[in-house]
Amino acid sequence: MIRINENYLKLQASYLFSDIAKRVAVFQQQNTDIEVIKLGIGDVTFALPQACIQEFHRAIDEMAVDSSFRGYGPEQGYDFLRTKIAENDFKRCSEPIPPDEIFVSDGAKCDTGNFQEIFNDAIKIAIPDPVYPVYVDTNVMAGRSGLFKAGRYDGFLYLESGWDNNFVPNPPDVPVDLIYLCFPNNPTGAVITKTQLQEWVDYAREHRALILFDAAYEAFIRDDRLPHSIYEIDGAREVAIEFRSFSKTAGFTGTRCAYTVVPKNCMGFDAQGKGHSLHNLWNRRHTTKFNSVSYPVQRAATAVYTEAGQVQVKKRIDYYLNNAAIIRQAVTDLGFKCVGGVNSPYIWIDGQRDSWEFFDLLLNKAGVVCTPGAGFGLSGKPFIRISAFNTLENVQKAMGRVKNALA
Ligand code: PLP
Repeated sequence: MIRINENYLKLQASYLFSDIAKRVAVFQQQNTDIEVIKLGIGDVTFALPQACIQEFHRAIDEMAVDSSFRGYGPEQGYDFLRTKIAENDFKRCSEPIPPDEIFVSDGAKCDTGNFQEIFNDAIKIAIPDPVYPVYVDTNVMAGRSGLFKAGRYDGFLYLESGWDNNFVPNPPDVPVDLIYLCFPNNPTGAVITKTQLQEWVDYAREHRALILFDAAYEAFIRDDRLPHSIYEIDGAREVAIEFRSFSKTAGFTGTRCAYTVVPKNCMGFDAQGKGHSLHNLWNRRHTTKFNSVSYPVQRAATAVYTEAGQVQVKKRIDYYLNNAAIIRQAVTDLGFKCVGGVNSPYIWIDGQRDSWEFFDLLLNKAGVVCTPGAGFGLSGKPFIRISAFNTLENVQKAMGRVKNALA
């Protein structure tokens, strides 16, 4: 008899985006003359930067000729990309990140989801609430949780974010083994300071814990005082893994390219307390289960680091940040408290009511779609997330409608 992994039965079906789609479809049927503006899902709206497209085309042409064709590449990614990442993305760190500590992949979703595989089933996990749901569900699948009760899984330590901690949780009073942090945050848009991140690194060092630091939105940071990488923090190399992505940085959501930094001196421990290099374990896992990203995609990602690529990427992010500022101003003018929208494409708005109720209000009165905070965890219930990924025209129109509807 083929038995299933019964941990999958504990998973809560995610109805968030299908529920949103259903409600939007009903509204649209009843209001055929209103153009619904979607500021819900966090997907980019710009095409790939020209610099990336040119390299993409060139690499595809190489693949069309026997003499330049490439078959399987190195599982960890091509050196041409890893070198550019190492040279460019960690300039602010006191110690360089060498290219061979960088593992190229097809997404931060897969990497943040898969990394837990190299740890013991019994480790204690700290998970933010609200949260990017991948961290939770992958640990449930791995059997690290109990059942789902009253909005939460037994067995996880939830790190609540709210007004009392300005959406940056403090390290807990009890020891945990694995900590998920994401800054700039999805869904709240909150950012972490160096001092706050240092507290987490110190905590991890004290407890021989590990931080999985998701920096998928790093490119949106414009405030020079904020850390772009956890490796800007003293002592982080021994206790932190960092995830980055070209998705939101350069519009690779459909093209797929990301990377994970696993420092060689970052350790995990066996039952006897003996240290083992996580770099070696991840390398083993990665080379066994993954065959890297296609050659043209890695060439396209490398073009992000050219002069033209840098200009084009910055222009896109500036555009989204301008949208975010408009959204933030509009909701603030309406008297709502919000976080994010500065150094982040997301604005997390305290609706002071059930998030689905607020969602329905914006949809039915303004024809604007947001994401109800309840979809990101218990702490998200009174909030909605508005995303800046859209055209300026749509954002202006949407905010005008919201102001008229709620003023
Ligand atoms: N991490 C966070 C916090 C995200 O919000 C997302 C996508 O929305 C991802 C990772 C996924 O990134 P990728 O497209 O590289 O898989």
